[in-house]
Amino acid sequence: MEGSDALTRILVGMPAARVVAVAPGSPASEAGIAAGDEILTVNGEQLRDVIAYQLHTDGADVDLEVRRGGLEQQLIVHKAPGTPLGLELAHAVFDRVQTCDNHCPFCFIHQLPKGMRRSLYLQDDDFRLSFLYGNFTTLTRFTESDFERVVTEKLSPLYVSIHATDPDVRTLLLRNRRGATSLRWLELLLDADVEVHGQVVVCPGINDGPVLDDTLLGVLDRFPHLATLGVVPLGVSAHSHEPDMRAHSSDEARAVVHTVSAWQARYLETLGRRLVFASDEYYLLAGQPFPPLDEYDNCPQHENGIGMARTFAAEVAAALAGADVVATGTRSGFFAAVDGAPADGYRAPRNPTPESPPPGDPLRPVGIVTGELGAHVLAPFVAALGDRAGVDVRLVPVANRFFGGNIAVTGLLTGVDVAAELARQPAGHRYLLPDVVLSHGTFLDGQTLAALPYPVEVVRTDGAALVRAATRIAS
Ligand code: SF4
Repeated sequence: MEGSDALTRILVGMPAARVVAVAPGSPASEAGIAAGDEILTVNGEQLRDVIAYQLHTDGADVDLEVRRGGLEQQLIVHKAPGTPLGLELAHAVFDRVQTCDNHCPFCFIHQLPKGMRRSLYLQDDDFRLSFLYGNFTTLTRFTESDFERVVTEKLSPLYVSIHATDPDVRTLLLRNRRGATSLRWLELLLDADVEVHGQVVVCPGINDGPVLDDTLLGVLDRFPHLATLGVVPLGVSAHSHEPDMRAHSSDEARAVVHTVSAWQARYLETLGRRLVFASDEYYLLAGQPFPPLDEYDNCPQHENGIGMARTFAAEVAAALAGADVVATGTRSGFFAAVDGAPADGYRAPRNPTPESPPPGDPLRPVGIVTGELGAHVLAPFVAALGDRAGVDVRLVPVANRFFGGNIAVTGLLTGVDVAAELARQPAGHRYLLPDVVLSHGTFLDGQTLAALPYPVEVVRTDGAALVRAATRIAS
């Protein structure tokens, strides 16, 4: 590219994909691409994101325009069709992530304490991140050209925040007038055979009770092709400034479970599938047993805490019985296969998990670190794990003081709270830490494992991995 064109590109902020790592021996490495390079075009096309990158780099022999140290050059990468280039890119979106124009009173990002890492404050509402990572989008900023792209490139499944089908209630919940109309996109997406999973975040006194009933009727009426609908309780941290946002009482949680169960029966009768599911947290709040595993219809919203407890129990039982267990929860969609950017923020890849038994006395007692809700799920298995391991196995529930309020899920535990709890525990024991609390090896509050008072063994968050780790069986 001519110097003036290069300057134009920089001035108008044209997208470039920054390379952070190159796989040794990969086609990109053979072609001389290095970390720090910026990919400006692929086969002459400027790309906006890793989705387009995947599409354009899939063929044989890719032509790249690369900027290195301010200088631009053309490189041909020789490779077979379908072979990845072997690049890790800094971001999934090369232009700008579409941020949301809503002001939801239940928004967890508004309830974060100050000083956390920047990516956690990003209020994205970008259908591309919905496709890539399963982030929920409200569709209030969705456009005709976005729709065209989703349909032509078959970007499915997508995840849509519904919250309420009544236009006024949805406007109130999103604090955005576009909330009233943006679900028309959902109808169009479903008409175009795009797979969409929905979510309702329930705020007691606002969209529970008759409003939740009305929403589930609205789904049947307007969105009968919706793949699934997850119903989850709002989280209220101690940092919320919204006086109308409060945690559910047990009675309110029981009412939600009852409503969901009644609508599952109606959906089964009219659509032949359950469609709607309450999150595991609701059953814990309601003090009611989880539904049987086969009533979760293969757990398509497992990552959103729906069916996790039952899946976990099944994995533990199978692993204790000596069966081979395939862990649930890893989405096998687009991102599992993409040669590109890692997820960031809450859905970032977890720590690489060392599962080999650690050195030391095998008969040391084992403490399993978990959140307060996770402790309820794990409690039934502790005795069996101890019997199998031949040592004392106990839970180490950690209260979430960092966020406070009703935040009790394991995935939102921070280093400062884990460290404080471990400091109260005896030395010389083995401590197992679920990898869901780490992203890129760091807790949400930026702490690392080095700040904990004892060494911990990071264990993948599935039942079989827990059985292997607690009983010191190498995977
Ligand atoms: S759409 Fe999501 S990110 Fe935006 S304000 Fe609502 S909850 Fe927060």
